[in-house]
Amino acid sequence: MSKPRPCLPAALSVALLLSAALAQQTVTVRVQVRDYADFTRLTLEASAKLETTLSRTGATLDIQVDSPASLRLQTAPVSSRLVRSINWGRRGGRAILTVELKSSTFTYNAFTAGQPFQLMLDFREGEEEAKPPAGEKVSAPPPIARASAPPASGVRTIVLDPGHGGIECGAKGKLGALEKDVTLAIGLKLKAIIERNLSFRVVMTRDKDTEVSLENRAALANNNDALLFISIHANGSYKKSSNGSETFFLSLNALDEEIRRLAYFENTQAELEDRIAAREEEQDVLRMILWDMAQAAHIRQSSRLAELIQAELNALLGTANRGIKQAPFKVLTEVACPAVLVEVAFLSNPDEERRLVSEGFQNNVAQAIYQGLVSYIRLYPPEGGR
Ligand SMILES: [Zn+2]
Repeated sequence: MSKPRPCLPAALSVALLLSAALAQQTVTVRVQVRDYADFTRLTLEASAKLETTLSRTGATLDIQVDSPASLRLQTAPVSSRLVRSINWGRRGGRAILTVELKSSTFTYNAFTAGQPFQLMLDFREGEEEAKPPAGEKVSAPPPIARASAPPASGVRTIVLDPGHGGIECGAKGKLGALEKDVTLAIGLKLKAIIERNLSFRVVMTRDKDTEVSLENRAALANNNDALLFISIHANGSYKKSSNGSETFFLSLNALDEEIRRLAYFENTQAELEDRIAAREEEQDVLRMILWDMAQAAHIRQSSRLAELIQAELNALLGTANRGIKQAPFKVLTEVACPAVLVEVAFLSNPDEERRLVSEGFQNNVAQAIYQGLVSYIRLYPPEGGR
């Protein structure tokens, strides 16, 4: 029999080492304030997760920041309708950001998002409503009911497009799962996460099992002056072994045969027949026309969005990374904003089919797309106004 190992002292010394390492680490905390059409957003961004505590007195809001690491505190110059100044100070060894507003009548929503860490406060003018008592910790994002509210001026719209619907089932799994059901379930979960955490309006191209034409899906995005368009699909392949996630953006010359096949598959049957009938030179003409299409102006940002979403899918799902790809998806061509199509996993693969129908996996997919979206919005903050 071997001697029992000295578990506790070993664990203790590891813990001490860890906290010492963390204490020596320097975390950069940046704060900026930006006006939007109907609110002002303060974003506190850090290179590691922080504990924050808010307390409000009159026209002042203090944000206490706790972290075992040493903090490098930065602020961007403030020029805002509602916020007069932001200043870092220290009290009892703790870093405190003092936000001074121009008036003591204001309301705010606080939420955390992103990786490594973001605290966002959206200030609005007006009488104070019931707010969290002073000193309450901000941890989970508070629910912001926006589901059926009309868009306030300046609030941008994100369009979510669950693929297929109605008589168009999309891919079918061996165990009976239908793509149209999986995409709708993920779309609704993603909608809820966005509305809970971000000040965007979310419009679905469908929120039930109905048929919507590809033209109408794109038109819905354009009529709402959408900030982003995200189409959600589950993949199908004749090879049972095909697996993994991939995110597409529009390409004007995707030549990869498998991608062309998939693009045909996701477009309508009529579209498929038309395309097959078209001669090579006609396809060249089509390619020329594509350059004039709405999406052509947004391809760079679309590819960035695809990249960020794909990175989160890989990190969160543990599915094989099939990468970001370009394909001539019809639904994307007419969309006049950055647009991507996510093929979450393969319904034609029984293992992935089982995952695709599970609530947990669907939640993870929604969470991954959401994280990609947050990273994208950080890179390309929407302009105020519509
Ligand atoms: Zn599909």
